[in-house]
Amino acid sequence: MSAPDQCDLIIRNACVLTMDAKRSIHAPGAIAIKGHAIVAAGPEATVAAAWTSPRTVDADGAVAHPGFVDAHLHVNAQTCRGYFRGDASKGGGAGPSYADWKAMLSGDDEQAAAALASVEMLRHGITTFVEPGSAFEPDAVAAATQAVGVRCTLADPYLWDDTEMMRTIPGLMSPSLAKRVPPDRARCLKLLGGQLYRNRDKDGITHGHIALYGEGTASDELLRAGKALADRDGVVLNSHIGYDLDLAAAMEQRWGKPRFVHLAELGVLGRNVTFVHMNLIRDSEIDPILSTGVNSVWCPFAYASRSTVLRQPTRLPEMKRMGATVALGTDSARQSSAGDAGFLAFVMSAEVGQTLAAEEVMEMLTLGGARAAGMDATIGSIEKGKRADIVVRSSRLAELGPNIDPVHQLIAAGHGATADTVLVNGRIVMRGGRPTQVDEQAVIAAAHASAKGVARRLGIKPPGMWPLAM
Ligand SMILES: [Zn+2]
Repeated sequence: MSAPDQCDLIIRNACVLTMDAKRSIHAPGAIAIKGHAIVAAGPEATVAAAWTSPRTVDADGAVAHPGFVDAHLHVNAQTCRGYFRGDASKGGGAGPSYADWKAMLSGDDEQAAAALASVEMLRHGITTFVEPGSAFEPDAVAAATQAVGVRCTLADPYLWDDTEMMRTIPGLMSPSLAKRVPPDRARCLKLLGGQLYRNRDKDGITHGHIALYGEGTASDELLRAGKALADRDGVVLNSHIGYDLDLAAAMEQRWGKPRFVHLAELGVLGRNVTFVHMNLIRDSEIDPILSTGVNSVWCPFAYASRSTVLRQPTRLPEMKRMGATVALGTDSARQSSAGDAGFLAFVMSAEVGQTLAAEEVMEMLTLGGARAAGMDATIGSIEKGKRADIVVRSSRLAELGPNIDPVHQLIAAGHGATADTVLVNGRIVMRGGRPTQVDEQAVIAAAHASAKGVARRLGIKPPGMWPLAM
């Protein structure tokens, strides 16, 4: 037998959910990491025979899994918790709306919100998120995510050239937002692809993709331009569709046919195209979705918070079983926490009679998310050659034992802020449930100061029902 090779870090004594092609689980398992990458994962004895390392993390029997991917998270929502309740689409009546909040943010506010989101995500086991072109200053988000050590993909802000349809959802499209990012094709075509330079650093944790806002706000020309650029650069084209059922119906009316039939005819579907929400799927749209390999991102909180199930039960659990790639997203965490999506998908799939197995939810959070983000070659599983984006859960929490059915345990009970140790790109960015790269309390304090500042500039008051002395 040859002597073991040297690596930089070994995680041992873990219950390793690999998410490899066989969905192998190793307990006790180990993971060897060298530089940014995983060099081995398997039974502990096998890894120990081949690899040695000066640094070891003893998982104490806890679950280790590939970092979750939040395939849709608007960082701008992270700091407005407490100022808005209810349906995000409402607005324009009494006081400022969520769209007014967005329009008010400075780069410093976006940086504070992104840092807050990042530390929150790490504790929930999320190591990568997709910021879908809703930050005015992507550099500010990049600075925050790099400081915390979270992987992120960014896009140019608010690419839309026809916002007429959005008039029906004033909470998402205010005059203030239209003023800041006017619907203008020339502006969009000029900005399109502006974040893709980030992909030149193949070893980095900040990436770029193409996002069009969507929901009927992109002309056919803009859609074609976005898809052509995504094809050319090997990235994902990301867009909202079907958040609002009335808007979906209006799009059908405009195009004279179901949306995915029109999009297929335009030639803008493919496995590098990701649509977010997908709350309406007609029978005639199933074939274009499946045959082109388009990815769907389900945001179960957004779906549930508008009682969508009463009008249109989601078909995404069913679509996953038909072979579609389905990922999960937080959307806006105004009334939730980043990290709730898996549990909510698990619960809400039962409500529509398509109960997802924990294993299916796990696939959505890892492999599905990686593909929806355009990163399935590098993240989403614990396998040799992939980036070391790894979460080790706590071994000492009541809800995280005793690993008899570790996948179900993780998705059904241990899904919350239960991460102990988190690696992104081979670096330990959380240890003992605390970020290692930033002062967590300073991040939280900066985010709270930013939130209060935005609220003051907007003149908005907390909406609580009971008297609050401040
Ligand atoms: Zn969204």
